[in-house]
Amino acid sequence: MSTERTVADPESDPTATWALDPGRVRGLTSRAVVGDDAAHVTTVTPLSGAPLAALPQSTPRDVTRAVAQARAAQPGWAARTPRHRAAVLLRLHDLLLDRQSEILDIVQLETGKTRLSAYEEVADIALNCRWLARRGPKILSDRTYRGIVPVLTQVTQVQHPKGVVGVIAPWNFPLVLSLGDIMPALLAGNAVVVKPDNQTALTMLWAADLLATAGLPDGVLQVVLGDGPGVGGAVVDAVDHICFTGSTPTGRVVGRQAGERLISASLELGGKNGAYVADDADLDRAAEALVRDCFNNTGQQCIGIERLVLHEAVAEAFLDRFVDRVRRLRLSAALDFSGDIGALTSAAQLAKITAHVENAVEHGAVVLAGGRPRPDIGPWFFEPTVLDRVSPEATCYAGETFGPVVSVYRVSSDAEALALVNEGEMGLNGAVWTSNLHRGRRLARQVVAGTVSVNEAYLTTWGSSAAPMGGRRASGVGRRHGREGILRFTESQSVAVQRVMGMGVLYGQGPERFAKTFTLLLKAARATRFPWP
Ligand code: NAD
Repeated sequence: MSTERTVADPESDPTATWALDPGRVRGLTSRAVVGDDAAHVTTVTPLSGAPLAALPQSTPRDVTRAVAQARAAQPGWAARTPRHRAAVLLRLHDLLLDRQSEILDIVQLETGKTRLSAYEEVADIALNCRWLARRGPKILSDRTYRGIVPVLTQVTQVQHPKGVVGVIAPWNFPLVLSLGDIMPALLAGNAVVVKPDNQTALTMLWAADLLATAGLPDGVLQVVLGDGPGVGGAVVDAVDHICFTGSTPTGRVVGRQAGERLISASLELGGKNGAYVADDADLDRAAEALVRDCFNNTGQQCIGIERLVLHEAVAEAFLDRFVDRVRRLRLSAALDFSGDIGALTSAAQLAKITAHVENAVEHGAVVLAGGRPRPDIGPWFFEPTVLDRVSPEATCYAGETFGPVVSVYRVSSDAEALALVNEGEMGLNGAVWTSNLHRGRRLARQVVAGTVSVNEAYLTTWGSSAAPMGGRRASGVGRRHGREGILRFTESQSVAVQRVMGMGVLYGQGPERFAKTFTLLLKAARATRFPWP
């Protein structure tokens, strides 16, 4: 296994701490589709605030060029069999695991997250890669149906690639939320133009490099860099399907633009996720897992829990365990596995999270743990925070905080718990804790969310690659993962082949006799168990 690291060596150059090797950065950025005179923006690492990379920026004209190049390369890629395309994914799987230390450094440096959270991205892509490569070809293969005339009409459903798929990704899980959508799009025979967030562009460029090493032909994947409305908007304007992950307000803009062009869109948007701890829950297990659920990736996780709904019979006993664990979490800026909580990813995130906590306290909330920025560790660190007695007037009651802040509520019944978990316009993820699995399953079905975990945190739903995942209500449109996650990148075509005799036998009787005969046939089909279509 390669142990190569992409970080510069602080022992030979003391100013290099939290810096990437400049030659490596230049190599990566040379993959982006940009003009010779491209403007540059400099990103900084949230771990220390030190400069990280000078990123060339694409223009809308560069996007046009990228889409044209992708369009030219797509037919050749689509002409290969799904098994051939799957083999590229399997090689990607192996390369990713072998070279994980490189990408763990880059993801940590770009996002400020812990190494464990960065590793979860690697593990997630490996899980998905294998599932897609092994199951995808069958899902993409032709299906046959009985047609309108039994035996004589045969219908085949064919899945065609959309053409060029646009992927617009956020910064919080830069590997998962880019490669995770690119892989099924490629497997289905599409070319892809991806626009990552500038803050996490190097992760995407590294992944593009890895795909090329895995055997993806030139031109099939294009990376453009730049701001959301300008460069992202140009992507939506030029592709055949848009796969967007980000905030609900931006999702509405992208959805409108896609609607105007009548192209399909998958929109993975924000959440305000609730977890219910019932009166028969295993409190130790629940406390351990809910700390992961609430604070993984410093709370910057779309499926992270922001509302903890506790049955009053166990609320205090649960909180003793939960708050104790939260207070013991170690904040860390180290590029190793020693930390439990990393940095927030930007100054804007720090400002938003600080404002949410201050606003909740102004409205009467009590801080049970955390509550403060920690500039002593790094510029954008914030303590994992537990709030009690949050007023419905507080911003964080209904609005997504997207940070390490969870609010606690007490209820006296399952019905009250469900009402609180389901309150608002979001519907992304939820969790239920109970020792009675029948009760757990029943409650889970009543949570208005695309995924619900019973007695575990997000990993059991997210990591189950065969099962669809996505948002209901304002949390999104469409699903990633599983069969649906592949087929969204295809157009279904039905080809009906008529054998021996055609429909003229019926129509030839004249309109009135045709209507009578056909009505008789419809009634016969209803009355019998013959396998009519
Ligand atoms: P964002 O909407 O600001 O940006 C996401 C991406 O869209 C970025 O690449 C950005 O440059 C681009 N963008 C911005 N405006 C655009 C426009 N007008 N047209 C096209 N592209 C545009 O979101 P963010 O702040 O980067 O991410 C955090 C949000 O994403 C949170 O709300 C979180 O819940 C959500 N999220 C959802 C999922 C999910 O799977 N449902 C996953 C991760 C994050």
